[in-house]
This record gives sequence, C-alpha cells and structure tokens, in this order.
Amino acid sequence: MPRAPHFDVKVSLRGQEWTLRFYNGGSSKTLGRCYFDKKLITVKNDKEAMSTLIHEIIHACQPDLSEEAVLEIEAAIVTGLEAFSRHSVKAVAG
Ligand SMILES: [Zn+2]
Repeated sequence: MPRAPHFDVKVSLRGQEWTLRFYNGGSSKTLGRCYFDKKLITVKNDKEAMSTLIHEIIHACQPDLSEEAVLEIEAAIVTGLEAFSRHSVKAVAG
C-alpha cells in the first residue's frame, strides 16, 4: 500500500463505503489496485488516473470478472466519456 503523499475520498459503491486513495506514485509502475476486503481502491494520481479509477471501480463492483472483461468494460466507458467530452465541448462552443 502506498505511503507516498495521498488523499482519500469516501464513496458509496453498491451500498458499501469505500475509500478511494489517490497517491503520487512517482516511478511506481502500478497504476491502481482494488483491495476488496478493505474496501479500498488506490489510484496513482497521473494522467491515466481516470481510466485507472474506472478500472478499479469495475473490479470493486464485480470482483469475479476476469481481467480481460474488466479491461473491455474500462475501454468502452473511456471511449464513451471521451466522445461525450468532445461533444460537450462542441455544444458549449456552439
Ligand atoms: Zn484489473
């Protein structure tokens, strides 16, 4: 578990309180982890943080899914969010 400077956010996932811990990982290669028993998700706070967070939340919600399935859902959500992001920027810009 990271000891580097971090901040925690409490959220409710499927009716249970979870801690999201964002840390400055420096050179750490691990982008994120889901500690199901501790109801803790750690996310390295870098440019990949959003997709990492989505990935780990999928693990938290469906711990029996294969890594392949989690990666597939993560990619689909990120694709949708990126499309939404482009669309909403256009809508605001007119
Ligand atoms: Zn995973």
